[in-house]
This record gives sequence, structure tokens and C-alpha cells, in this order.
Amino acid sequence: MNVSIVGTGYVGLVSGVCLAAKGHHVTCYDINNKVVDSLNNGICQIYESGLQALLTSVLKDDRFTAKLISDTTFFASDIIIIAVGTPSDNGKIDLSYVKQVSESIGKYIKSNKNFVSVVVKSTVVPGTTDTVVRGIIEENSGKTLGQFGIGMNPEFLREGNAIQDFMEPDRIVLGHDDPKTLKQLQQLYEPWNCDKIAVNTRTAEMIKYANNSLLATQISAVNELANIVASIGDIDIMDVMDAVHMDKRWSPILPNKTRIHPEILTYLIPGCGFGGSCFPKDVQALQSLAHEVGVKPRILDAVLKVNEKQSYQIIELLKKSLLDLKNKNILLLGTSFKPGTDDVRESVSLKIIEYLLINKAKIFVHDPVAIKNTKIIFSSHKNLKFLKTWTEALSSVDAIVVATKWPEYKQLSSLNYQDILAGKIILDARRFYSPTDYPKSIYLTIGRSVNN
Ligand code: NAD
Repeated sequence: MNVSIVGTGYVGLVSGVCLAAKGHHVTCYDINNKVVDSLNNGICQIYESGLQALLTSVLKDDRFTAKLISDTTFFASDIIIIAVGTPSDNGKIDLSYVKQVSESIGKYIKSNKNFVSVVVKSTVVPGTTDTVVRGIIEENSGKTLGQFGIGMNPEFLREGNAIQDFMEPDRIVLGHDDPKTLKQLQQLYEPWNCDKIAVNTRTAEMIKYANNSLLATQISAVNELANIVASIGDIDIMDVMDAVHMDKRWSPILPNKTRIHPEILTYLIPGCGFGGSCFPKDVQALQSLAHEVGVKPRILDAVLKVNEKQSYQIIELLKKSLLDLKNKNILLLGTSFKPGTDDVRESVSLKIIEYLLINKAKIFVHDPVAIKNTKIIFSSHKNLKFLKTWTEALSSVDAIVVATKWPEYKQLSSLNYQDILAGKIILDARRFYSPTDYPKSIYLTIGRSVNN
């Protein structure tokens, strides 16, 4: 198929390159000419494992192009996918990019004789596709639904694992409000052999929010348990959770007595809270929608409240050991919101840096790929130094906070560094290590009292 994708960020680019790799002819549009130029020169503007190689391959096979969008863009495709950002505007979903794109598409549909389906892939609250998007297209095209189609195909890829998630999804949701669009979506995803669920666009929109809200709820629930445990004393939350995970409803036992350890269990490990470009804004958007439809979202309120406070646990733990953080040298390892990405949007590490700066600590920061994006947020500050290698400041700091589980930080616990780390604080914000990994240091973590 000829496919147009509007918005070429983490979702649009991965979707475009993967659809092209499966044999479609894809044109990705963006408003940012730097993105377009970079892609046409064969360079990915974002870091995602495997993406650069796949981009090179689809460009070589002439199945992928990037173009700048304009008010007179001629999309020349059977299907137009919207993948622009839907950020948070004080908790409420900001649909301005979606609206802007819908207007351009509506103008194109006006001048185009062929049937085209407009499919929203951006995460949007239920009712957006069949009211806002449809309404703007009808207004700008002078046509009604049926003369064009609308669909909603939520995206479940996770940054850091995006190519595999897109290529081998657990299910594909084919949201549609007209039969022709369902056919187009079925054709688009024909090369994928997985469960495909055909629902209306509102249901498709809600599936994404239900998915993310439940995952975020698990994280806040386990973080609350961890905080209770830390205050009781003489309990390590990981000893508790390891046993909880063994409940066969979480990790089923097969007939041959081996266990399945589903990935869902990684959302039941405590830490310094969830961040990223999806969970915080999606839970907030659903919370805000709930109020609009007259429901008090008590659980979502609590999920967000627990999460908001969780990053501060790191500062409290540091203060318990170092007392005053002023002029203390702290090494922060990891600024991306999770390993495998350069995305720092809503990253908990950024909040930790802010708190440390307020407390006048001297901070050394390292991340394998996200320093460029971190520097955009923190303009030069005399107490903030960005490191090329994480080992260079080990000997001069008072405490090391490991905030992102980048595999290379596992080496910190190797014997090579035990002497350098003697007497220093290791603050494991993600339960990345075992408490016995640092016999010569002061090991602090979430869900374990300081005196344990
Ligand atoms: P992003 O910010 O990385 O990319 C959005 C792109 O859209 C940018 O390149 C921007 O320049 C472009 N854009 C903005 N306005 C435009 C316009 N008028 N015309 C053309 N291009 C325009 O965002 P993202 O992370 O890819 O997220 C996109 C959507 O997908 C969001 O709704 C998000 O919630 C959802 N989503 C994201 C992820 C994820 O892991 N990032 C996963 C699932 C769903």
C-alpha cells in the first residue's frame, strides 16, 4: 500500500520504517525540516536500537521517504496515519497538533477524488477521532464520513524495544467507524500474524488508556508497599515481592514444574516512580476526562499522587545519610526515562537533578545516549557537570545515584570498583543491584530501611 504518516517522532518514524520493511511504500511527513533532512540523508534523529539499520535498508530499497508537511500537501496514499504528539496541557490532553494535521488532511480530501482513510495512531482520549478529527475533516473537505474513512490504531510500542514491539506485537487494534477503513487497516497489517481486534474508534482509544493506567497503577501500588516496608524496618521489599511474584497467578507453573516469569512482573518492582512521554500524561488525560464525564477518578488520583512524591524518596534517603546536601558531590547515573532510549521527557532523573540543585549539591551526570536531550533542559549550571564516562567521577563523589537501569551500570558492582566505592553511598533508585553487592559501601534503596 501507499502509506502516509504525519508526525515522524518516536512512534511515526518507527511505524514508518517498520511498515516499509514489511513491503509498503511509506512517506513520513513532519513539520520540522531538521527531522526531514536528517532522515533523507539516512540519519535517525532519535536513538532506538535497530532503527538506524532498518532506516538505511528501507531507504536503499526506495520504500521510505520523508517530506515536509504544508497546507497544500498532496498525500497520494490510500491511508493517512496521524502520529503527532498529544502532550499534556495542565493534565488535560492537548490536541492542537492533531487538530492542525486534521485541517491539512481535510483540505487535501477536498481536492482529492479517491477514497482515503484517516487513521489516528497518536494516543487520544475516547471520542477524539469520531468527533474532533472527523469534524475538522468534514468541515475542511466539505465531505461526510463514507466519502472518506476514519480509524484509530493505538500504538503499544515501548521505547528501547520499539522495533521488536512493532514487528512482533501481541495484538493490533483496528479501530474504525466505517467498513472501508477496516478493510484498509486489515490490508495494512496483512503481513502481521497476531491477534487483531476490530472495534469502534472510541473503544480503540480507551484500550490504550486502560492499558497504560493499569500498568501505572501497578507501579504506584508497589511503590506504596515499598515505602511502608521501609518505615517498618527489618524487611526488604524485594524479599516480599520475590515471594509475591511466585503466586501462580502472577508467574504460572507449567506441567513440567518450571515457571513462566511474565514481563508484567517488572511493573511490580519498586523504584523512584514512572516517567516517560506516555504514563504520566496518559493517566492525567484519563483523570481529566473522567472529571469531564462526571466520574471522580479516585484510583487514578492516588496513582499520580504516589508517583509525584516517589522521586523525593531519593532526596530523603540521601539526606538521612549525608544530612545537608549542600556542596556534597553526587554522581547521577542515567537521565533517560528508561534504558534503551535517549528520551528524557518526564524522566524521574530530571526531577532528582532539580531537587539536588535546589539543595545546592554538586552534581555529575552521565547517560550513554541521553545527555544531548538532558542538556536542552538544563542550560549550563555551575553545580551541574555532564560526564563522558561514568567512571571518571567515582573517586571524587560522596554518593552515586543509579536512576536508570542501563546495562553498563551493572559493572559498578564489580570487584574492580569496590575499593574506590568504600565508604560512599550507593543509592539504587531502581532495585538494580542486590544489597550484598556493595560490602564496603553504604547501600541505600527504595523499600528497605536505612538501618537494614
Ligand atoms: P514525538 O514528539 O516524538 O513526535 C511527534 C512528531 O510530530 C514530531 O517530530 C513533531 O515535529 C511532529 N509534528 C508536530 N506537529 C506536526 C504537524 N502539524 N505536522 C506534521 N508533524 C508534526 O511524539 P511520539 O513519542 O512519537 O508520540 C506520538 C504519539 O504517539 C503521542 O500521542 C504519544 O502519546 C503516542 N505514543 C507514544 C509512544 C512512545 O513510546 N513514544 C508509544 C505509544 C504511543
